[in-house]
Amino acid sequence: MLIFIIQLIVHQFITCVTPLPPIIRIGGLFGANDTEQELAFHLAIDRINSDRNILQSSTLVPEIQRITDGDSFHTNKKVCSLLANGAIALFGPLGGQTALHVQSICDALEIPHIECHSNSRDMMSDHISINLYPKPSSLSRAYVDLVKAWGWKVFAIVYEDNHGIVRIQDFLKEAQQYDWTIKLYQFSDRPYRDIFWEIKMTKVFHVIIDVNRLNIFTVLKHAQQVGMMTEFQSYLITSLDLQTINLEDFKFAKTKITSFRLVDSTNPELYSLMTDWTQLASKRGLNNASKPTNLLTESALLYDSVKLLATALQDLDQSQSITMPSISCQSDNQWQFGTSLMNYMRPITFRGLTGLVDFDQFGHRSSFTLDVMTISDDGLQKIGYWSGSQTLQPLNISDEWRDNFSYMSLANQTLIVTTIINPPYCMLRESSKTKYGNDRFEGYIVDLIDELSKLLGFKYKFKTVDDNKYGAKNETGFWNGLIGEVLNGKADIAVVDLTITSKRAEAVDFTLPFMNTGISILFKKPTTKVTTLFSFLSPFSNIVWVYVLAAYVGVSSVLFIVGRLSPYEWDNPHPCRNEDFVLENNFSLTNSFFFTIGSLMQQGSDLTPKAMSTRAIAAIWYFFTLIMISSYTANLAAFLTVEKVISPIESAADLASQSSIEYGCLASGSTRAFFQESNISTFKKMWEFMKNRDVFVDSNDIGKQRVEKGNYAYLMESASIEYSVERDCNLTQVGGLLDTKGYGIATRKNSKYRGLLSQSILKLQETGRLLMLKEKWWKQKKGGGKCTDDNKKSSSVTALKIDNVGGVFVVLLGGLSLAFFVAICEFMWRSRKSTAGCETMCEEMINDLKFSFACQSKSKPGKRKSYEDNVNNSSYNTLSQPQVIRGQFTNKLDY
Ligand code: GLU
Repeated sequence: MLIFIIQLIVHQFITCVTPLPPIIRIGGLFGANDTEQELAFHLAIDRINSDRNILQSSTLVPEIQRITDGDSFHTNKKVCSLLANGAIALFGPLGGQTALHVQSICDALEIPHIECHSNSRDMMSDHISINLYPKPSSLSRAYVDLVKAWGWKVFAIVYEDNHGIVRIQDFLKEAQQYDWTIKLYQFSDRPYRDIFWEIKMTKVFHVIIDVNRLNIFTVLKHAQQVGMMTEFQSYLITSLDLQTINLEDFKFAKTKITSFRLVDSTNPELYSLMTDWTQLASKRGLNNASKPTNLLTESALLYDSVKLLATALQDLDQSQSITMPSISCQSDNQWQFGTSLMNYMRPITFRGLTGLVDFDQFGHRSSFTLDVMTISDDGLQKIGYWSGSQTLQPLNISDEWRDNFSYMSLANQTLIVTTIINPPYCMLRESSKTKYGNDRFEGYIVDLIDELSKLLGFKYKFKTVDDNKYGAKNETGFWNGLIGEVLNGKADIAVVDLTITSKRAEAVDFTLPFMNTGISILFKKPTTKVTTLFSFLSPFSNIVWVYVLAAYVGVSSVLFIVGRLSPYEWDNPHPCRNEDFVLENNFSLTNSFFFTIGSLMQQGSDLTPKAMSTRAIAAIWYFFTLIMISSYTANLAAFLTVEKVISPIESAADLASQSSIEYGCLASGSTRAFFQESNISTFKKMWEFMKNRDVFVDSNDIGKQRVEKGNYAYLMESASIEYSVERDCNLTQVGGLLDTKGYGIATRKNSKYRGLLSQSILKLQETGRLLMLKEKWWKQKKGGGKCTDDNKKSSSVTALKIDNVGGVFVVLLGGLSLAFFVAICEFMWRSRKSTAGCETMCEEMINDLKFSFACQSKSKPGKRKSYEDNVNNSSYNTLSQPQVIRGQFTNKLDY
C-alpha cells in the first residue's frame, strides 16, 4: 500500500511537472478524392478527444492540407507550413510519388511519418516512418497460399500500371518454386475486354487481377461481356477493398471471385462507430460516404494509426517531458522527440479496426490477419482467413469452400458411379474368369470415367442401376432410374447415354455434354429391288440427255450449213462429162442428220466429208461421241451391278402417315419424353399411336430384336443407331435427326463435382481423347466396321450430271466454231478466185451464197461464161446456163 502511494505521488509529480501540451497538432495530407479517408481521420481524432481514455489532458487538433500527386513543389510548401504550425506527426499522403517526398522531409527533420497505403518499397530501420498497410511480400505469401489451396496450375495475372508489376513481383518470386504456368497481361491502353478475350482464347480459366479499387467493377464487367464470367472461371482480386464494390451483377453466375479483407468485421468498435460516422459525414456534407461496415481499408488504417500515435504519445509522455516546438524546413533543427516517439510506436499492440496491430523492427505490420472473401448468391461472404503470424497455419478455409474452389478437390475421393448396361457405353466384360468390382465392366463410359479420374485424381466404383431405367418423374413427383439414384444418394454421379433434358436439369446438375446425338429411326434394310422399264437412261441425268439431244441437232445443222458453204463439198458427179454443169453436195439436211446419228451410235455411214471444215466437225463429233459413249457404258455397268432397293418409309412423317408398320421407343427414356411433350403434329400423332398400341420396350436390345424380325421401326438415339448399323448389316438408319441433344454426367444439385468434371470433359474434348474413345468403341471393338462396305456400296452409284461431263460439250462447241471459221475462209478464198470482169468480190460472194442455200432452181445473175472459162477458173458456180444444180447423195436432180 505504501509503495503504491509512493508510486502515485511520484507519478503525479512527474505529470504535474512535465504535462503534454493541451493542444497537440497532427498533420494530414490528403488528395482531392480522399474524402472518406479524411472523414475516418477526423472521426478517430474526435473519438480520442471525447473518450479521454488516452491523452486525458491534451486535445488532438487535425491540420489538413490538400495535395496533388506529383506536385512536389507545393507538397513541400504545405508540409513545411504544417511543421511550422507545430504538427508533431504527419499522416499520408495515400500513395503516389509525393509520399516518397514527404518521407524524405520527415526523415530529415525527424518528424514521425505514418503511412496507410500499399507501398512497394521496403522500409529501413532508420526511417522515421511506419506503415500500417501490410507489406507486399506478406500479401504475396497470402496470394501464393490461396493459389496453392485452389490448386491452380495455369493462370493469368493482369495488372494495370507499372506499380502493379512491382507489387506482384514478390508473388512471382514465390511462384518460382512451384510448377505453375503464369501468363502476364497488362491492361495499358487497350479495353479490358480485349485482354479477357485473349485470355479466353488461350483457354486459361484462372486469373489474378491487380487493378485500382475504382476500376474493379469495370474490369469484371468487361470480363462478363466476353463470356469470362461463368462457373468455370475463378478470379483472385488483389485489392483489399472488394467489400466496397457493388457485386450484385456477378453473384449469380457461380464465378469464383475471391479477395482478402483486412478490415476486422468482428470488431465491435466498427459497429459502435456507425452513429458518429453518419453524424460526422452529414456535418461535413458527405452524405454518400460509405458505411463503416463497407469501410475502405485505408480509412480503417487511418483510424488505427491515429490511435497508435495517441497511445505512443501517452507512453512517451510518461517517460520524459516533451516539448513540441514549431519546426522550420529552412533550419537544420530536428524535433528531438521524433525518433523516441517512433520507437514508442513500434512495440505497441492493440486491436484496431484492421485486426491486431503490431509491428516488426522495420515498422511493418507483423501478425495481421486477412479474411478470405468470396462471392456467393448472398453476396460477398467470409469463407476463411489467412494469418501472417508465423506460429499458426497460414490459410484456413472452410472445407465446403475449399472443395468448391479446389481443382484437386476430388483427389483421393471415391465416387459411386451408377450406370446401365447398354452397349457400347457400358457392357459386362466377357471373360472365362469371374470378375469383381469395376473389372466387371467395359465400354465407352468406363474408359471416360477412367480418363476423368486420372485428370482429377478421384477413385470410383461402378454400380448398375437397380430398376434398369434412365430416369423419369412419376406421378408422385419422384424420379426413378439413374436420376433417382443420384438424388437419393445411392450414387454420386450417373454416367451412360444419359440425355440432358430440361426436366432432368431441374432435379440434377449436368456436366457439359461429352457426346452429341438426336432421335432417329432404326429400321430393317429393305430387300425389294427396284425394277424400272427405262433403267437404261439412269447413267445420265435428265439434263445431260437434253444436252446430248441439243448437241446432236446443233452439230447436224452446223454440218449442213458448213457443207453448203464449203466449195470443196460440191463435186461434179460425172467428171468425164465436162459439158454437164452438174455439181452435187453430199451434205443435204437429212444426210447431215444421218451422218451424226451414225457416228453417235458407233455405226458410221457412207458419207465422207471432203472439205477441211466438214472434216473438223466430224472429228470433234467423233471425239464427243467417244467420251459420251464410254461414260455411258461405264456408268450403266455400275448401275446394273448395284442393287437398288426401295424402303417403305423414308422419314418420321412416312411412319406417322401409315399404320401397317409398328413403331416404338424405350419405355422410360428421353425419347419417350420427347414424343410425349412435343407440340409438332407429326410427333403428336406418333405419340398417340405408340401410347394406344403400347409399343414401348425395356431396353434398346429388345427394340433392335423387334426391328430385325421386320415390320417394326424403333425410335432410338443416333449414337446408338450408329453403333448398331456398324455391326448388324440388316439394320439401317432411316431419315435424319428429329432433334439434337447431348449426353452428360448427372450430379446432385450444386455439387462440387460438376464444375471439375465439366472442365475435364472440355480438356478431353480439346485433346481429341473423346473422339478416340468413340472411334475405339464404335468402329473397332466388338465387331465394329463389319457393315461399313455395305453402306458405302449402296450409295456410290449416281447418274452423271452436267458437272461431270460439261467439259465435253465445251470442247464440242469450240470445235464447231473452228469448223465454221474454216468454212468461211474456204468460201471467201473460192469467191475471190472466181471474181471476173465487172463483178466485185462482194457481188460474187452474195451470188455464191444465194446459190449455196437456194432450195430450188435459180438463174444465176451476172455474166455468162463458157464451160472452159468455168473449168479454167475452177469455178463451180459460174455456169454458162441459168441453171443451178442441187445435188443429193442418192438422188441427183439435173436441171
Ligand atoms: N438416352 C436416353 C435417356 O437418357 C435413353 C435412350 C432413349 O430414350 O432413347 O433417357
